[in-house]
Amino acid sequence: MIIAIDGPSGAGKSTIAKLLAKEFGIDYIDTGAMYRAVALKVMGAGTDTSDADALGALLDGTDVDFAGGQVLLDSEDVSGQIRTPEVSMEASRVSAIPAVRKKLVALQREMGVRKSVVMDGRDIGSNVFPGAEHKFFITASPEVRAERRRKELAGKGENASFEEVLADIRKRDWDDSHRALNPLVKTDDAVEIGTDTLGIEAVLGAIKKYLQ
Ligand code: C5P
Repeated sequence: MIIAIDGPSGAGKSTIAKLLAKEFGIDYIDTGAMYRAVALKVMGAGTDTSDADALGALLDGTDVDFAGGQVLLDSEDVSGQIRTPEVSMEASRVSAIPAVRKKLVALQREMGVRKSVVMDGRDIGSNVFPGAEHKFFITASPEVRAERRRKELAGKGENASFEEVLADIRKRDWDDSHRALNPLVKTDDAVEIGTDTLGIEAVLGAIKKYLQ
């Protein structure tokens, strides 16, 4: 069984996906974390991503995996390091590069053929697993998503203004939905759930109803 959860950043996808996975006793695959891990590696190595050979070599030597709720980049736990605003913006940039998508989509498909998963991202229902049994598209207004993200950052001691976070969210929305390859789209067979005024429990309840 594959449950695909797509939507823009900050809509609550990962919180919902994690809870669903726990409830059904299946794995949760956070594909955004995979793009973030590659972005972190590119930033650390200072790779010129327009140099196809350099990027190819970097990707060939890159392994991204999950274990015990941690995101592993070349076996190192990078779960905390990939959650900064800088990595968010870089992840959005590198995710538009065909070689990066090719590598990560192949890894994601492998993870989903081995076992049942809840997978969240931007192109799961449209591209990674177009035949997924269950597809959900989780949305919220940019303002609500920005306020959630601002609070989350503040909770980690990182104080960003609402306007800054909103500008980042709007830029990522635009880039993610306008890139040439596998852009963020809602497929016709996905159930759309807006989370502006719905709490996590209500969203989870709605999804479970569809799954039954
Ligand atoms: O979901 P999250 O915000 O962690 O994703 C980080 C970035 O990775 C997104 O802005 C998007 O550009 C990219 N991404 C993607 N395809 C996915 C998941 C994430 O392009 N399936």
